[in-house]
Amino acid sequence: MSRVSFNRKRVKLKKVLGIRARLALLGLILVTPLMLERVRSLENTRAKQVALASAEFTSLARHGADLQREVISSVETVLKSAAYIRATDGGAGRSCDIMRASVPVNLPWIRSLMIVGGDGRIQCSTNNAYVGLDLSDRPYLLKARESRDFVLSDFLLARPTNTPIVMAAYPVSAIEGGADSIVLAGVNLDWMSKIMSNLGNRSGVTAVMVDSAGVVLAAPAGQAGLIGRPLDAVPLLSSIAEGAIDSDQPEGSLSFTAIDGSRRMVNFARIAGTQSRLVVSIDEGRVSAAINREIHTAYLQLGFVCLFVLLGALVAAEKLIIQPIETMAAMAKRFGRGEWSVRAARKSLPAEFMPLARAFNEMAAQLRKRERELVATNDRLTVMASIDMLSGLANRRGFQSRLDLEWMKAQQSGSELSLLMIDVDQFKLFNDTYGHPEGDACLSRLGETLSAVAAETKGFAGRYGGEEFCLLLPNTDAGRALEIGEMVRSAVQNLAMPHSTSSFLTVTASVGVSCARPNDKQQPGDLIEAADAALYAAKRRGRNAVVEHGVVRLTDGGMAMAS
Ligand code: GH3
Ligand code: MG
Ligand code: MG
Repeated sequence: MSRVSFNRKRVKLKKVLGIRARLALLGLILVTPLMLERVRSLENTRAKQVALASAEFTSLARHGADLQREVISSVETVLKSAAYIRATDGGAGRSCDIMRASVPVNLPWIRSLMIVGGDGRIQCSTNNAYVGLDLSDRPYLLKARESRDFVLSDFLLARPTNTPIVMAAYPVSAIEGGADSIVLAGVNLDWMSKIMSNLGNRSGVTAVMVDSAGVVLAAPAGQAGLIGRPLDAVPLLSSIAEGAIDSDQPEGSLSFTAIDGSRRMVNFARIAGTQSRLVVSIDEGRVSAAINREIHTAYLQLGFVCLFVLLGALVAAEKLIIQPIETMAAMAKRFGRGEWSVRAARKSLPAEFMPLARAFNEMAAQLRKRERELVATNDRLTVMASIDMLSGLANRRGFQSRLDLEWMKAQQSGSELSLLMIDVDQFKLFNDTYGHPEGDACLSRLGETLSAVAAETKGFAGRYGGEEFCLLLPNTDAGRALEIGEMVRSAVQNLAMPHSTSSFLTVTASVGVSCARPNDKQQPGDLIEAADAALYAAKRRGRNAVVEHGVVRLTDGGMAMAS
């Protein structure tokens, strides 16, 4: 049972997997790897593009941090020089004058230089507005005094410009032990804002600089409103504020999904000597928008390619395989109906079908030839089946069918039909005397004689069996039939074939004649029966005689009634 259903399934599957489906499948098998490879390569390109953008911004952040390091190093040098002057010159006023005069113009990031006295108040400054300002509680000042070393403050916002600055402090005590004043410099961080403006101009990129507490110190020009606000209040960055600020790493990257649903990558780098960081956030979607469009287009292209492959496979299957097969099948059908002249038109078939078409045509030609031969052989056999080989006349079968035909014709035309039954006299004795082969030769000669009479009388001669012959005479009345019977009898006798054991000493034949005008009440067999009866009468009359059914024609030419 399960075997049966399995076979059924196989048949169904075969139907489904017709040539069209197979070609379409083949097309897809060929196209799919290419398609997958193309998709894979596009996806790779997208990943690379995002990675490249990420690397680019990491490098920018690092570059910014490096720039800051240089700035700080130059500031330290300037502060050390000022502290040295202060320590060696002794007078606060003079050192202030020197300091004011020596503000380096090639270091534009040094915003101002100041000297703070032991009381924490600014004694002198390149900006007079600051003189007398009490900075005694500033952590960087306390730290510098305590550590006797160069100290950098956290980032500060300079008012009213709202630009980020950092304070650098260097205690004079680092050079001269007893001194209590500290040299300060306000360091401008405008350059950082410029970098961020550059970054901020890029589509899908947000860049801010935050201090150790996560407060935004610098932002691109378009987002200046963010300055002074904590990072967790900045849209799109709030969720990574903690991760970016609390990280111990000098630089790193985070990937996250922002609240607007955009997939973002954040790169951050710590600025040397401070706890501040530059945070650059990239919207992966927007950065890779172009490649996404390309991928979208590629998917569409691939879809179309697949569609075209499928359609192409179907059209190709139809044109190149199905149609030729149907053409050949139609030809085979016509051929099967006996239209032997059908030939495959090679022009309408693809080259691959040529051998098949050639074989088909050859087969058709062969079959046609064979059929002709068969018909000829059949005809020959039919003729052979109705001919007696010894006498060359029709055999009994041939005679019978001719009798039926002539009977029908005579019935249709209402004409008379006569029959002669001819039997060789004392033929047994002939065989006994001269041998069977001689008997055969005798029969053969009698056949020739009878054939000649038939030709002359427009009759149809046959060998009815053994040494018995017959002559069918269409359109012949009884009188004419008796005459022809006599012709036959005398022709046989005139052959003068010796027959020593016959009373006539030559081969003779007796002839029974019958005549009829065929009608519905009579049968062809009646004509034979009558001729037979007449023949029997002829034998009884002494042989070598012609007797009509009911009428006896004697050998001397007289007529008598058959008994
Ligand atoms: P009847 O005058 O009464 O006809 O005497 P008959 O001897 O001719 O008749 P019968 O029927 O007694 O014998 C016919 C003989 O014809 C017997 C048979 O040997 C011979 N015969 C029949 N067919 C052939 C044949 O094909 N070849 C030869 N050689 N003899 C044949
Ligand atoms: Mg006989
Ligand atoms: Mg005989």
